[in-house]
Amino acid sequence: MLWRSLEQLVFDNTYARLPEAFYTKLAPTPFTSVPSVVAFNAEAALLIDLDPQEVTRPEFARLFGGSLLLSGMEPLAMLYSGHQFGVYVPQLGDGRALLLGEVVNERGERWDLHLKGAGRTPFSRDGDGRSVLRSAIREYLCCIAMQGLGIPTTQALCVVGSDDPVYREQVETGAMLLRLAPSHVRFGTFEVLYYRRQHEHLKVLADYVIGLHFPHLAKRADKYERLFGEVVERTATLIAQWQAVGWAHGVMNTDNMSILGLTLDYGPFGFMDDYDPAFICNHSDVNGRYAFNQQPMIGLWNVGCLAQALTPLVAKEALKASLDHYHRLFQDEYLRLMRAKLGLVEEQTDDRSLIDDFLHLLHESHVDYTIAFRTLGSFSSADGDGNDILRDLFIHRERFDDWAVRYRDRLRSECSRDDERHRRMNRINPKYVLRNYLAHLAIEKAQQKDCSEIDRLAAVSRLPYDDQPGMDAYAAPPPNWGKHLVVSCSS
Ligand code: AMP
Ligand code: MG
Repeated sequence: MLWRSLEQLVFDNTYARLPEAFYTKLAPTPFTSVPSVVAFNAEAALLIDLDPQEVTRPEFARLFGGSLLLSGMEPLAMLYSGHQFGVYVPQLGDGRALLLGEVVNERGERWDLHLKGAGRTPFSRDGDGRSVLRSAIREYLCCIAMQGLGIPTTQALCVVGSDDPVYREQVETGAMLLRLAPSHVRFGTFEVLYYRRQHEHLKVLADYVIGLHFPHLAKRADKYERLFGEVVERTATLIAQWQAVGWAHGVMNTDNMSILGLTLDYGPFGFMDDYDPAFICNHSDVNGRYAFNQQPMIGLWNVGCLAQALTPLVAKEALKASLDHYHRLFQDEYLRLMRAKLGLVEEQTDDRSLIDDFLHLLHESHVDYTIAFRTLGSFSSADGDGNDILRDLFIHRERFDDWAVRYRDRLRSECSRDDERHRRMNRINPKYVLRNYLAHLAIEKAQQKDCSEIDRLAAVSRLPYDDQPGMDAYAAPPPNWGKHLVVSCSS
């Protein structure tokens, strides 16, 4: 493996070669104070062949703090629009982020270098173009957590902080997050061209996405139809994975939906603590449009918006046919994951009710979602074993007992072996998730210039399925103060 210095990174900026209507070229606006590296993810550096030692050079903080550009970079703000909380907004675009350029690594993989918090752009509307340290750290940590969980996501290379004041509900400090993804094209990137009736451009965009990211479709006569079908599938399976791990995105607007089916644009996201299907992680979402249990339906609504944007390229019947698959694709993946979370190998007809009834028990007893499933892995199917540790999680113990009898019978029906199932379940039921309060503690320390907790939390989050010695505190339920932290869009 050849490590590269910053100056040796290889750029090939395909987006900058698209028609000018797709973006505005401009440079980042640096901080006025001296930038410093707050967090650095060596694993993400490997994706672009970057030598992790490069983080120690002063140029690194300057580069990802927006005051230095590398030759080969062509920074630009991408144009997009989107449906926000159900309402079409004709122009959004990168209002505080810039695509610095695309790095191609030794394996030929392409990675966007996307700098969030890089200053105002023509798409900033009333915004200041900045991100606060708090939100940059949250996105950084959650990218690592999702990657560790095996859920498709954009990745985070680093957070660079500053002393520049940024005004939100209170004065905070500004930071920039360097994000990596094979593409930052969103549903909204298609929508803006459709609603502006730039249908030739729409075709250019579709061909561009297919050429780089769906090359197996490039020569097909029905390539646009197939592209849509694959986006529907990726979206449905992504959301099934969110549901299985108890995660809510919080702002599933179509401008935050990746055409590659990646988890994109981390805002007020949250992992559930106590199981609550109506969990709303975004304090500003008063009507619960993006509540946890709405996500699968919203995913369908969002691919519906993409379908509308593709009508100049694909017959409506074909788009409808793909949309009709969404529900089955979601259900199949969700059931597959939930069966696995229960340690079931075979498919049986009443699995769904076994799963739903367990979730119902968790809800009525306010049981922690992550802890419940991890503890279920140790379920003993031996006669007379009351499974006390698991049972004690529930307020209504006799209802748990009734369910446990059904579960035991179900396990026996497929000759499940406790020890083998335990190992299998520990590979799908994480021990550690990025609880809000854990991120909050890491942020508070970082605001006092101690960034060590970010690294510790990142390290725990990278291996969420492993028992990590000495790290049990990170697997504990939140303290009471940490259960109801308020997170909103304004970050
Ligand atoms: P988000 O909620 O972060 O997905 O952002 C939605 C839209 O608002 C996007 O067009 C962002 O670029 C823009 N935006 C969010 N925050 C800011 C900000 N502080 N300054 C400028 N634009 C912003
Ligand atoms: Mg966004």
